[in-house]
Amino acid sequence: MSLFKKYKESRVGRFLKDYAWPLKYRIVALLFLSTVIGVTGAAPSFVIKYLTDDVLVNKNQKVLLLVCLGTMVIMLFKGLSAYYTNLWGAKISGQMTMNIRGDMYEKVQNMSFDYFSESKSGDVMSRFGIDTDKALTILSGAAKAFADMMQVVISLVIVFITNPKLALIAIFLVPMVSAIMKKYSRRLRNTGKDIQESFGKLNTILQEGITGIRVIKAFATEKFEIEKYKTENSNNFYHLIRNKRLDARIKPMVEYVNIVVILAILYYGGTLVIQGKMTSGDLMKFITAFALVGEPLKRLSDYINALNSAIPAVDRLYEILELESTIENKENPYIPKKIEGIVEFENLDFAYNSERDVLKNLNLSVKQGEMVALVGRSGSGKTTLVNLIPRFYDATNGSIKIDGIDTRDYDVYTLRKNIGVVPQETFLFSGSVRDTIIYGKRNASDEEIEKALRMANAYNFVMELPQGLNTEVGERGVLLSGGQKQRLAIARAILENPPIMILDEATSALDTESERLVQDALDKLMTNRTTFVIAHRLSTILHADKIVVMENGEIMEVGTHNELLNKKGIYTKLYETQFGKLEEETINA
Ligand code: ADP
Repeated sequence: MSLFKKYKESRVGRFLKDYAWPLKYRIVALLFLSTVIGVTGAAPSFVIKYLTDDVLVNKNQKVLLLVCLGTMVIMLFKGLSAYYTNLWGAKISGQMTMNIRGDMYEKVQNMSFDYFSESKSGDVMSRFGIDTDKALTILSGAAKAFADMMQVVISLVIVFITNPKLALIAIFLVPMVSAIMKKYSRRLRNTGKDIQESFGKLNTILQEGITGIRVIKAFATEKFEIEKYKTENSNNFYHLIRNKRLDARIKPMVEYVNIVVILAILYYGGTLVIQGKMTSGDLMKFITAFALVGEPLKRLSDYINALNSAIPAVDRLYEILELESTIENKENPYIPKKIEGIVEFENLDFAYNSERDVLKNLNLSVKQGEMVALVGRSGSGKTTLVNLIPRFYDATNGSIKIDGIDTRDYDVYTLRKNIGVVPQETFLFSGSVRDTIIYGKRNASDEEIEKALRMANAYNFVMELPQGLNTEVGERGVLLSGGQKQRLAIARAILENPPIMILDEATSALDTESERLVQDALDKLMTNRTTFVIAHRLSTILHADKIVVMENGEIMEVGTHNELLNKKGIYTKLYETQFGKLEEETINA
């Protein structure tokens, strides 16, 4: 496909309008500087002409001085322009990179949950990295390409003006060079692809060989794996050499053709000089100008090749920029002063996709301050149900009302600020313990933080950390135990103090002491707010105001522990299989 067609079908036009147009004055200034570079780049041919004709042949001292001083000035301009083109070029492309990454991050951050369950993080990351860099070569290379183009055009004009006949001979030889280049560059590209493919395979083998080391050791297949790696390794070597052989051939061939061309010009032009039909200076000027075409022309063709891979990269950036979140605020959303925490589910259906309904015709009323324990087998829809309350997803049919108002009418950020979430696995951002705790309330005072830590039974262990509240946690900091992380997450939720709380109790077992501390912290967290708990602990269901029993996305039973036990229905069975064992353990403990 031609470059132009590719361009027309891509979003490069939009990309330029969105990201280059706002910087138009700087870009024009940059192009002006590039022109200076292009023009001064073609200057040596004139220098050579006057040096030969006036200084060497006519022995003119004054011209020698002029040529030297003139060249000094021209080269100074060239140097200055080169400095500013590089600097401004970097500034412009840096600014654009910054803007486009910023816009993409804003898009991604504002996307709804469904986007994240579908997209792979690696793919999104590569769009921020490689694709952004590639897309920007369109502009970062443009200034240089423009300067090169100017130099090529000016040098060719000089060549034609100096001696049109000689110029035609020279130009005739250009297709020869490009034929060689064309022939080899396709083969070169193919072998390049082979190298990449085999390197990809090699990497996969390496990665599997390391992450799968337990299986390999267990089956004693080290020899087999080593053989696999070595085979692909030598395959990679073979492709590499094939590629290098072609690559090594091109340069001397092109150089040789160039020399032959120059020699032909020299022979014909030299004859003209001997016959007195051309001055020596003009011949030198001609050869110099002609030689000045080669390098920039090659760089231009590299630039065009880079454009070929930049265009798809731009499209990949726009795939992010054009994302639409499925959860948006409606016009004039409702912003409540205070949320009481009365929650009602009315004829609620939900499906992640059109294949099947995950929640079916749910009806449930929860009073302010009640604690609701959700129980049911894994996959029965408990997580899905609680995810609908803060509008991580929207119901397919029916509604959820908070204080009598449909959640879709609320301002979504206000709504979520009023619903605290403590997930099963606590994710800690890198930063200090303090940063972790104030995540939902950035202006919390030290007293508030301390109070929250004490309520969450986290105060003592935090104070024992090397730098107390200022200790770094997460990837680069101290490693906290599961129970400690949970208590920090609880402290964070207590500090945020939302009227509605969603809790996913951890299934992973903690030791008895840690379990007691976490449980006690949770109890404090749950008082005085409406709480939904995906329950895994016996004490939670025993204390619940309402136990909601779910099966296959439906609510089967609702009631307190004793009420439901008396029914001798699903709950009784579930209690005996899932929680009964826990009771024994608790009694034993
Ligand atoms: P529970 O919390 O009770 O274990 P879930 O609410 O996680 O149950 O899951 C209910 C059903 O929805 C399951 O069948 C699960 O496979 C399906 N499900 C959960 N999350 C998604 C998702 N993001 N996309 C599609 N299906 C999902």
